[in-house]
Amino acid sequence: MQATRPEASPAKKNLLNVLPAEAEQAVRAFAIASGEPPFRAAQVVRHLWLNPAPDFSAMTDLPAGFRARLAEAFTIPRLELAARQISADGTEKFLFRLHDGEFIETVAIPEGSRLTLCISSQAGCALQCAFCATGAMGFTRNLEMFEIAGQVREMKLLSPALSPTNIVFMGMGEPLMNWRAVDPTLTILNSPQALGIGARHITVSTVGVLPGIIALGKRPEQFRLAISVHAPSDELRQSLMPINTKYPLASVIEAGKVFDRRVTFEYVMLGGLNDQAEHATQLAALARDCRAFVNLIPLHPGGAGDFTPSTTEQIHFFSRRLRAAGVEVAVRKSRGTDIAAACGQLRVERQRGRAPVGAENDGDIHVA
Ligand code: SAH
Repeated sequence: MQATRPEASPAKKNLLNVLPAEAEQAVRAFAIASGEPPFRAAQVVRHLWLNPAPDFSAMTDLPAGFRARLAEAFTIPRLELAARQISADGTEKFLFRLHDGEFIETVAIPEGSRLTLCISSQAGCALQCAFCATGAMGFTRNLEMFEIAGQVREMKLLSPALSPTNIVFMGMGEPLMNWRAVDPTLTILNSPQALGIGARHITVSTVGVLPGIIALGKRPEQFRLAISVHAPSDELRQSLMPINTKYPLASVIEAGKVFDRRVTFEYVMLGGLNDQAEHATQLAALARDCRAFVNLIPLHPGGAGDFTPSTTEQIHFFSRRLRAAGVEVAVRKSRGTDIAAACGQLRVERQRGRAPVGAENDGDIHVA
């Protein structure tokens, strides 16, 4: 595990930035040294993720003296809720301020009995996809595990609590360029000792970072992969997604093909640009090659660039073409448009005027 980031108290161990087994071990040693029974450690661990406590003093099944001593040795940092907005369609957007002043956002999307939480993995993003608001603001830093999984923890600490049933890494950032933190975060999300969300209900969305796709594929759990395809040819994709130079379309499709679980293609519908019959034909061939499910995404207004959303008729024409070519396809409902719930939009509203950071400053790519 990575070292704990220095915060207000650098000497204290952040129990939310290590896996539960490591947290339990540390607290057990501390309990024994403090003359407390070792089972106190399991009690504390339950309050990290499963039944989260806002701080040590709220762990009322522990003796008060021990709670005070825990707070001197360990931290369980909160993410500060800076703004919360609710859309007419029930979609909620949360803006969190991190300890270094960075802002990230999380979106909760209810649908029937499901609650999908769209989480961020980086503050900003280096990839600069032409239509994306997060890309336009540039990259600041990778999030740490406690900040990524912490977004789910914060939902459970709200009153009334929100309990997500599904997680998608479709908030700010490129999760597979922060594999070092995303890898253990997946464990926290999935582990019955922690957040207990089924692996099939956790989707990692990527522009196609090949080493990360391979690393995700090596995980034994059934985590889902979504690939942001957005264009069916290198030439067009290049103009929308600069990362295509590093990871060209054919190599991304190949990685999707060898990924041994079901893959979803994401395809944002850009009027007149990527929504014509020939694009449908090309995309269908790629999707069949990967046995991928295609998600057509209406362009959220207020992203970046000067793009026109495809008309509803054109989206349906496009989806019919794909279906006729034997591809499974769904048109994603646009949610939360009245609260600017597309990637990066709330933070952009807060931080207008900030100079974007160059794409070369893209942090380290850590792949196990
Ligand atoms: N970096 C990852 C995950 C974050 S973005 C990725 O690109 O997959 C999640 C999805 O939202 C991506 O498919 C992205 O292309 C899409 N997106 C970004 N801006 C959008 C907008 N304005 N309208 C619709 N979808 C958008």
